[in-house]
Amino acid sequence: MHNIDLKNEITYLKGVGPRRAVALNKVNIFTFYDFLTLYPRQYEDAKNVTAIEDLTIGATEIIVGYISNITSRKVRNNLTIINAMMSDGTDHALLTWFNQDYLLKKLSTGMKLVVKGKVDESFYQNLLQVNVIEFDFLGENENPKLGIFPIYPLTGNLNQKFFRTTMRGLLDRLQTLKEILPQSILKKHDLISYDSAIRSIHFPKSRDEIDEARYRLAFNELFLIQYGLLHLKKQTKDDETGIQHKPNGELIQSVLSNLPFELTNDQKKVFDEVINDMESKEPMRRLIQGDVGSGKTVIAMLALVKTVESGYQGAFMAPTEILAVQHFEKFTKILEPFDIKIGLLAAQVTRYKKKREESYEKIANQEFDIVIGTHALIEEGVKFKNLGLVITDEQHRFGVAQRAKLEKKTDLTPDILIMTATPIPRTMTLTVYGDLDVSQIKELPPGRKPIKTFARHKTSREKIYQFVKKELAAGRQAYVVCPLIEHSDSEKMQHISSAEEIFSELSNGIFKNFNCALLHGRMKPKEKDQIMELFRDNKINLLVSTTVIEVGVDVPNASVMVIEHAERFGLATLHQLRGRVGRGSEKSYCILISDTKAEIGRARLNLMENISNGFELAEEDLKIRGPGQFFGEAQHGLPDLKIADVFKDVDLLFEARRSAEEFINDGIFEEIEQVKKSFMEIYGEKFKQIFEV
Ligand code: ADP
Ligand code: MG
Repeated sequence: MHNIDLKNEITYLKGVGPRRAVALNKVNIFTFYDFLTLYPRQYEDAKNVTAIEDLTIGATEIIVGYISNITSRKVRNNLTIINAMMSDGTDHALLTWFNQDYLLKKLSTGMKLVVKGKVDESFYQNLLQVNVIEFDFLGENENPKLGIFPIYPLTGNLNQKFFRTTMRGLLDRLQTLKEILPQSILKKHDLISYDSAIRSIHFPKSRDEIDEARYRLAFNELFLIQYGLLHLKKQTKDDETGIQHKPNGELIQSVLSNLPFELTNDQKKVFDEVINDMESKEPMRRLIQGDVGSGKTVIAMLALVKTVESGYQGAFMAPTEILAVQHFEKFTKILEPFDIKIGLLAAQVTRYKKKREESYEKIANQEFDIVIGTHALIEEGVKFKNLGLVITDEQHRFGVAQRAKLEKKTDLTPDILIMTATPIPRTMTLTVYGDLDVSQIKELPPGRKPIKTFARHKTSREKIYQFVKKELAAGRQAYVVCPLIEHSDSEKMQHISSAEEIFSELSNGIFKNFNCALLHGRMKPKEKDQIMELFRDNKINLLVSTTVIEVGVDVPNASVMVIEHAERFGLATLHQLRGRVGRGSEKSYCILISDTKAEIGRARLNLMENISNGFELAEEDLKIRGPGQFFGEAQHGLPDLKIADVFKDVDLLFEARRSAEEFINDGIFEEIEQVKKSFMEIYGEKFKQIFEV
């Protein structure tokens, strides 16, 4: 046996020609290693094979046998049926495939198949028909009765037999696989060797073997990723160029005592954590998680004041122009009396060469103490003189690379604070934000009236808008949010109303005596700003909009949020949208209009009615939707998990995290080097972005 390099391209694998290679590439399998770690999606237990004479009508069963008498006929224009007789020595059954003409070329008399199908009566007396759901070719000596056989995630034309034979061939030619984890970790967690885990996961001899192998490989995966994140964290912590902020002095005390409110206990706790980080010599890398309106921005402002008091500059990056401007105005109002100079770096400034260059200069010679901006903050020309703190308000995105760009705007290593309102369940925080310290604001400021949420069927639209009219007549303002701005053909078929249509319907109809405006993503920033300004000044009563308003505008007089086709939005988005109202002293309402009949859709809208906390909502949503979609949405920039499941394997995730923490602190040098090497071999390419930070 010779040693096979697992980094080899998949085309060099025996049994894989150019065409199969293309099919495999499509599902991100490029190397031998990728192929080897394509884990079975499930296992078919050969014990479940039924003898043809024992088949039950109506049941889904698995049979194994030889085929003959293959025929095909066109029944109608759009229906072709292929039949084959199968015999297993006990009896015959009639196999039936619908509309799979291409199979005719692949099936021939004498082949041995394993078939999973639904058993039905047939036209022939005494002969049962099996409508094939899934089937596979078996080699002459391959007998699923001998054990448990793997079912791989199918891709294109590649069938189970190809995967099994090719995998078997590869494993047979492979020498014992090198161990990835140190012996001490294996011992501590009672793990089987990497080599046996890989071999058993593909060709297990028992259910217990599958469990053991899965446990080992899932632990492996979670441990390595946690190790990577913790390694990153440790590197920044050990950074010698960190900034040590001064203890709170007079400035921050007077800003605090001039706030129109007292901080909530959660805000105090989180601010203390931030203060500790800032005063320590290690660079701060902290995430503040808190629901919309929980008061994160105040903490951001106080932290910025703290950096200014220590003689540094602070930067605050918002996700949109509207938000940057809003923060700028708010901060200016509160901080101007304290002679803190605040600059704005957003399109309305950077559009003009002169203004832009003026701003750049003021940033470069510290005439601005605090700079608030959009992505304009990370443009080439921006150079800070003395940057001590960088805050990014990320709403939804995890922008590792962008954050890094902002950090590099200075020779020192500034403290970093990230704020997010994305309600990520606890377990996901560990994976997605595993390199950061996390603070949470759970309580809302006192006096908030809960927003009354109603999920209503489309048939109540008329009544709903009558209600909105009453609110407007009483001096309030309202939002109407719609999913799209234009019809596409396929959408038309589903009768989706566009923002434009709804706007014209409402502004010419029931609200014709009010000022209405339309806001959508294709407008120029300037137009958008103008409309938002008018809305803020209560010159517009009703704003029809696509989700551009999602990102945090603050109009306390708005008391109603109507969402059309609510079933089309994710819960996180619905929750964010709802957070636009309930910011003032008036009672507020969120009304979700939909005509969905789908059970899941309805269940989710009911969650909105019953749960007001974003984190609870996210946990419940997960239960309904399952993990897959949620994780996919997160755009986390981390490697996909191939076998572990952050939701099902919660305990394992915590165990792996703890273990990686201990290991990174107390592990012996050789073992740490071994893990580093494994990590880079497996994830090096994909993690590059994170490790270059
Ligand atoms: P977030 O950034 O988390 O969405 P903000 O910081 O914008 O929340 O706060 C939402 C609103 O609540 C703002 O109008 C803010 O002035 C107000 N607020 C914040 N903290 C408190 C508090 N402790 N007591 C009363 N009001 C508060
Ligand atoms: Mg510090």
